[in-house]
Amino acid sequence: MPKLKTKIPIKMHRDIDKSLIWATNREQGQIRSISITKTPDDRYYLNVLVRREIKPLKPTNKTAGIDVGIKEFAIIHDGESTYHIENPKYLQKAEKKLIKLQRQLSRKQKGSKNWEKARQKVAKQHQKIVNQRKDFLHKVSSVIIKQYDAIVVESLNIKGMIQNQKLSKQIADVSWYEFLRQLEYKAKWYGRQIIKADRFYPSSKTCNVCGYKNDQLTLSVRKWQCPICRTIHDRDENASKNLYQIGVAHLTNLRFEPAERQRTSGRVGTTRAKACGAGSVGGQLASSQLTTRHPAVKQETSQKLESLQSEQAPQFIEE
Ligand SMILES: [Zn+2]
Repeated sequence: MPKLKTKIPIKMHRDIDKSLIWATNREQGQIRSISITKTPDDRYYLNVLVRREIKPLKPTNKTAGIDVGIKEFAIIHDGESTYHIENPKYLQKAEKKLIKLQRQLSRKQKGSKNWEKARQKVAKQHQKIVNQRKDFLHKVSSVIIKQYDAIVVESLNIKGMIQNQKLSKQIADVSWYEFLRQLEYKAKWYGRQIIKADRFYPSSKTCNVCGYKNDQLTLSVRKWQCPICRTIHDRDENASKNLYQIGVAHLTNLRFEPAERQRTSGRVGTTRAKACGAGSVGGQLASSQLTTRHPAVKQETSQKLESLQSEQAPQFIEE
């Protein structure tokens, strides 16, 4: 540091490639700036901004619909398999601890010594959760970006908004926005596409098989049976399948076809919809029915979501 005579010891979270320091061109990557930030729990971080060329990933010809759940972090459907990503246990524990610490803080006299101590504990725990969650979200978003060309998400965290517990709602909102932010910038880096479903598209209420809309479905109902086609739905799996179908429709520029043709055409798969232009899709889907499978969503059984090599890795449980 320019004004300090002594050196400051640092803890490296990530190695900096030595070649970066002396690199002079873009291909090698260049350090653009270094800054120091202080977090609310009085830790200092050294941020190194590096410029580097990123090559787009090869197409996988796969599309995914992602439904962000309440109990589970997310459910992914890719036309072939459905994956459940659980919220990591360490995170749930840390969140419980934060609630406890906040309760303790509320009992202390504001401005007192004990209050100050408790306040610091809350700040520290809060920062710990922010870091852990960010790390978890980075791992999940990276795996998803690697595996899929197109990723469909809802444009608003409706479930987070409905939850009434103040803190869990806050955490759900923050992590959902952070997850979307990561997906979006990584998609730009690696040449992937993020498709946001219309904010009013009822992904949980719509039967992914026949398109029936179940208006009676409340948030507490986890499983329901479609009265029209008799399919039994897991609420969140059904939502992820609908989002997947929106993605397929969006990519294929489908036009509405009469439902009759579907029986005679002999094709498999279900996609109700016509794709529309860029931006939000899905609001106008769900009425007519047709079947087509996008050539980009070939059923490749060899490709599975690769598991992450870390003890903190999210679990992809295939059903
Ligand atoms: Zn149905």
